[in-house]
Amino acid sequence: MFESMVEPISIRGHTLLCLQGFRGEGYDATFIDRLTEIHKTLSDDPARLVQVVQAPDALCSYCPNLTLDRCELNGADSEVEMKAQDADVMRRLEIGTGEILSWQEIFNRIGTRLKGNDLNEICGHCRWLPLGYCSEGIEKLNNRVRS
Ligand code: SF4
Repeated sequence: MFESMVEPISIRGHTLLCLQGFRGEGYDATFIDRLTEIHKTLSDDPARLVQVVQAPDALCSYCPNLTLDRCELNGADSEVEMKAQDADVMRRLEIGTGEILSWQEIFNRIGTRLKGNDLNEICGHCRWLPLGYCSEGIEKLNNRVRS
């Protein structure tokens, strides 16, 4: 009964992948704290529902790069680029805009439909891409869902 009253966590499409590579780093302390909290919530409760969006989400509101209601990480066009990344990820995972799924289901889709090196096509010039954290996270999911 209580479970069904918990609001889904809103997460934008491409951030579903960013969460696979989270290792305690981020844009500033406030953002890292929020990312840590959401990452832990989802890791502790894979049944937790997530609403997948193509817009600023539950993390973005704590990000120093959010201006009004749009991402300006790489300048004025960033929100357009982020939406395109969201759409690309959601198409690959067959998730519709605003769709609500469990974190476990999202895990399964990433693990079965994506490979670590797909990020080279999806993530553009993201500063975290060369570190390899996210591709390693996805490869771990590949192994987990196939074992
Ligand atoms: S490389 Fe960047 S955009 Fe791609 S999943 Fe990692 S943090 Fe997200």
